[in-house]
Parts: sequence; C-alpha cells; structure tokens
Amino acid sequence: MKSFLWLILAGLLLLPGALLRADGLPDLGESDRAGLSPQAERRLGEQIMQEIRRDPAYLDDPEVAGYVSQLGQRLASHAEGVRPAFEFFVVKDAMLNAFALPGGYIGVHTGLILAARTESELAAVLAHEISHVTQSHLARLFGKQSQAQLAVLLSMAVAILAARSNPDVAIGAALSGQAAGIQQQLNFSRDFEREADRLGLNMLEQAGYDTRGMASFFERMLQFGRLYENNAPGYLRTHPLTTERITDMENRIAQRPYRQVVDSVEFGLVRAKLKAQDGTPGEAVADFATQLKSGKYARETDARFGYAHALLRDNKLAEAENEVATLRRLKLESPLLEGLTAQLRLKRKDGAGALQILHAAVQRYPHARALTYALIDAQIGAGEARAALALTQKELQLTPGDARLYALQAKTYARLGQRLHQHRAQAEAYLADGLLNPAIEQLDQASRAGDGDFYEQSQVDARLRELKQRRLEELRRRR
Ligand SMILES: [Zn+2]
Repeated sequence: MKSFLWLILAGLLLLPGALLRADGLPDLGESDRAGLSPQAERRLGEQIMQEIRRDPAYLDDPEVAGYVSQLGQRLASHAEGVRPAFEFFVVKDAMLNAFALPGGYIGVHTGLILAARTESELAAVLAHEISHVTQSHLARLFGKQSQAQLAVLLSMAVAILAARSNPDVAIGAALSGQAAGIQQQLNFSRDFEREADRLGLNMLEQAGYDTRGMASFFERMLQFGRLYENNAPGYLRTHPLTTERITDMENRIAQRPYRQVVDSVEFGLVRAKLKAQDGTPGEAVADFATQLKSGKYARETDARFGYAHALLRDNKLAEAENEVATLRRLKLESPLLEGLTAQLRLKRKDGAGALQILHAAVQRYPHARALTYALIDAQIGAGEARAALALTQKELQLTPGDARLYALQAKTYARLGQRLHQHRAQAEAYLADGLLNPAIEQLDQASRAGDGDFYEQSQVDARLRELKQRRLEELRRRR
C-alpha cells in the first residue's frame, strides 16, 4: 500500500478543471469554509472508506484500532473548528505515513505507530491531521464541486485504488506518471501546514501530551527522508516539511512550560503487538527472544507481551502462557492482557476458560470494546447464542451503528437458524460501513426468508423500501 492518500489525492486532482485554483486558496479565517459542503465531504470520504475497508492492508484489529481511536478522540475533543464524527483507522504499511480523508476519516500506517518513540509523538501526528480536518483544508483544496464532478472524482479515486492492487494495469502507471508531475500542487500548502502545526500543538497541550513530541518526531521524519530516499516517509509528500516549520514549532514549544508525560500502558502494548505481526512467526519469536535476553527494551512488560503474541502466532502455546504468567507477576494490568489470555484459551479449545476470563474482563474494563467483541464471539463459539444475542442487543443500544456488532449479531442468528434476522442484521452491518447495495441485497434475502412473523416481515419490507429510496436519491444526486 504505497503512498496511499497521495494517490487518491493525485487522482482527485488530475481531473480536468477541477480542484486547483489558480488564484490561490481562500484566506485561512476560522469560519471561512469555501469548498465542499460538510455533507458532500462526508459522502466522498465514506465512499473512499468503502474501498479502503476492502483493502487487505486495512488493519481489522479492534484492539489496535480501538487504541488509536481513543487517542484520536481524546485529541479531537480539544479541537477548535469543524468537528465531524471522526473515525480513526490503521493501515498495515511500513512507510511512515498518516493522512486525513475528506469527512473526518484519519488513517495511520503501522510504520508510523512503530516509529513513534513516545505516545506524545504519535499524538502529535494525529493532532496535526485532525487540524487539517477541523480547518476544512481538504474541502478547501477540493474547491466547490458539482455533484457530477464529485462522482467523477470518486470513480477516479476508485480506479486508482483498484490499479494499486493490480500494478500491471496500464492506467495505474499512467496515473502515477501524471501524479508525479502535479505532486507539488497537490500537497497541502505551507499555510495549511503551519496552521495544522499551530492548532495541533494547542490540541496536544490541552489533551495533556508533551508538546515537544511534535518537533522531535517531525525532525526525525525529515532526517529519515534525507537518509533513505526510497523509503522516505510518505508523510513528507503530502505534508511538505521544512526546517523552517520545525523551527517554528520549536519556538512555540519553547514558550510553553515543560511537562513530563508518561506514556499509557496501551501505547507500549499496542506497538509490541504490531511488532509481533512482523515477518514470519519464527522471526518475530526470535526478535523478541533476543530483545529479552539482551535487556534492550524500554519496558520489560512490552517486550514480554510482544513475545507472547509472537509465540501465539507460532503456535507455542505453553511458552506463551508462561509469558502471560510472568506478565501477571510483573503486575501488568490491561484489557490487552485479558484479550491475549482469552485468545490462548480459545486456541487450546478451552471455550469455558475463555468465557470466564472475558466475562470478568468486560466487567473490569467496560470501555474496552475489543473485549466485548471477543466475549460475544466466544459465546457464539460455546453455543451460548442466546447470551450472545442479548449482549449484542444491549451493546447496540449503547453504540448504534457499530458494524462489527451487527456482523456478530448476524453470525449469532445464523447459528440459531433464524434467516430473516440473520440477513437483516447483516444488512445493518453493511449499511454501517456505507455499503448500500449489499445491504439492499441482504434485506431482499431477509424479506424472502419467510421465517419471520407478520410484524418482523413488515419491518424488513419497510426498511428495504427506505434503502431503495435512498439509493434512488443517491443516483439522482450523482447525475
Ligand atoms: Zn499536514
């Protein structure tokens, strides 16, 4: 997944007469929002996200995604300006990059999470991206588009994404050739960058992070860029970074009081878990074993946690359980440790043991969504479909629109042989990810399942009519 956003943006900007204003950008007043409407921006972002979620590089790990999301939401709660419903996600890619899509979707590469030396550094990059969103930089970059132009934009972005997974496609080469030519133009302007730095720094401080993290991380990225031309951070392409910007940052930081900030436990554990997925399982095990033997780690618990995950990957369950026992002796407390323990039990086909751990863990860490998902899944696996159903329903009341919960609900109904409910829940899962056509297909199947009562049947049919109407409106809008 190379130069992800870069390509999308390149595609968007390639359009005839579309996006770049020769007359320069509007001035950066807080309330001035010339460009896409928030609704149009969200729709554009949503449709790009549909492609991203299908990409194998999209990291479907609720523990890692949950961590990044919590960090991002904490920062965003201190943001000024336009605040859409932010959605943070992680992309498996070694290249150092983070990017904002239209509509409040912010992606971070695993490479960047691993390159951050402190949580404040990672937070600094997120705060900068959030500021691009709250200041509507993308919307302003795109300019005012008609719906028809938007549709073309979108199909172009989709074509580029498709070409990316199939590099032989000629259009891919042609596009990237042209993209290189306009690269300078498509970058965020220096004014945008400075504004995102300034507001990002405020956000960082208000959310309680170490503001020095911003200068240190950006400076390191700049050095990386000089050292490794081929592996240069993709970040530098979309966010032109200059020594001048870093000096600006350092000056701002120098005016603020020094603050010692301790990284959260999760920051280290999430990084260790990501590292444990690197290379072959054997290599990951060897890496952590060497680290532990040499004592070259920032925190022993992180290294052991990564080691345990690598061992789990390598199917060395007894050794992994040993590490977990050591971690408990070292007094590590985290929902991630409970999740790992349960995973080990499941791998041993000890469903009852896993359930016991997850029940206790969910009580203890009610906000750790990954544990709730794991509990529901374990309940389904243990034949406790009724309990799983009750839990998904309860959770959906707390967080409506959670695609994963709907998918788990569909899985549960499938176990119970309730086909109308199964397809209806699957429809909602698709819809939560913005996939309208697959949702309509599922509702169609639900309607034809014939195993619901009169009331359920009419609910399904009403929902089906509603979504078909929505599809009509969308088609009309694109014309
Ligand atoms: Zn930027």
